[in-house]
Amino acid sequence: MTPARHAEAAAPEPCLVAGCGEPSVRHLSLAEARRAFPDLPEEGRRAPLCRAHYKAWKKSTKEARALDRLGR
Ligand SMILES: [Zn+2]
Repeated sequence: MTPARHAEAAAPEPCLVAGCGEPSVRHLSLAEARRAFPDLPEEGRRAPLCRAHYKAWKKSTKEARALDRLGR
């Protein structure tokens, strides 16, 4: 068990990617985030991502999102 940290209200949530824990800069829907990071936990609706992981997400979903736009 890790001791619970009392996060301040204004503090960014930690990145949801396992083992990362960097402060998040973006919130994606969990479904979107899981396209790039399929091992994310399924709980919750939003996935906070740090800068590095948001970049990685953007890169890996670039093509998928282009196709998505046609479908909507
Ligand atoms: Zn991260």
